[in-house]
Amino acid sequence: MSKPLTVTFLGTGTSQGIPVIGSEHPVCKSEDPKDKRLRVSVLISWGQFNYVIDTGPDFRAQMLEAKCTKLDGILFTHEHNDHIAGLDDIRPYFFRQGDIRAFAHKRVFDSLKNRFDYIFVTENKYPGAPTLKEIEIDKSTPFKISDKLVIPIEVMHNRMPVLGFRIEDFTYITDAKTITKEELAKIKGTKVLVLNALRQEAHYSHFNLEEALDLIKTIAPDRAYLTHISHLMGFHEEVQKSLPKNVFLAYDGLQITI
Ligand SMILES: [Zn+2]
Repeated sequence: MSKPLTVTFLGTGTSQGIPVIGSEHPVCKSEDPKDKRLRVSVLISWGQFNYVIDTGPDFRAQMLEAKCTKLDGILFTHEHNDHIAGLDDIRPYFFRQGDIRAFAHKRVFDSLKNRFDYIFVTENKYPGAPTLKEIEIDKSTPFKISDKLVIPIEVMHNRMPVLGFRIEDFTYITDAKTITKEELAKIKGTKVLVLNALRQEAHYSHFNLEEALDLIKTIAPDRAYLTHISHLMGFHEEVQKSLPKNVFLAYDGLQITI
């Protein structure tokens, strides 16, 4: 038997987070802690290993909250700011552990190299800058993180390919609007599916609630968790009541075991 995975939802919000700065929207003013959402990310832990998917702008606060003292690697879904902006804050891990493994598509590394040039320079590097051990991944090649096999799944975020990841019976997909049949086949049989659902209304690059629920019906996992949620989705408590029995709105700090 392989070791169970513990997945901690570090953030479940869309790119601006909830509350949105200056917003008077009732969801932004809600006092329910489940209506407060940092930018989207999960921590995946088993045995002595910890991996994060994405390092958004809230990465530092999230890792402090999760009390994560060792980081074995980062899996990047894509290069949008809400998924990468916190990368510099891997420094405490780098100082203690050395180079941090980063798994990303070549296109994502190219973008990271533009945005964080000082991390990737090889000459006259500032001593305080972290170093990544770059591991290029693509949609067709499964890869290993420590002793677990990861199957990458390509989804489309409008016109941008984004990678989702399946690790055994757990699948994490964010920022999807469409998925081809071939890629969907890789998800079949997953017991736990995390999927993005932005809001009630349609959106050009994200599933809305209805589209996410349709896909969940097709995949038929035991349990599904929705993430990358906008304040326009509505109050956590109310939306949760409207969902099928096996579908949950994720919330920051939620921990599940697979
Ligand atoms: Zn995003």
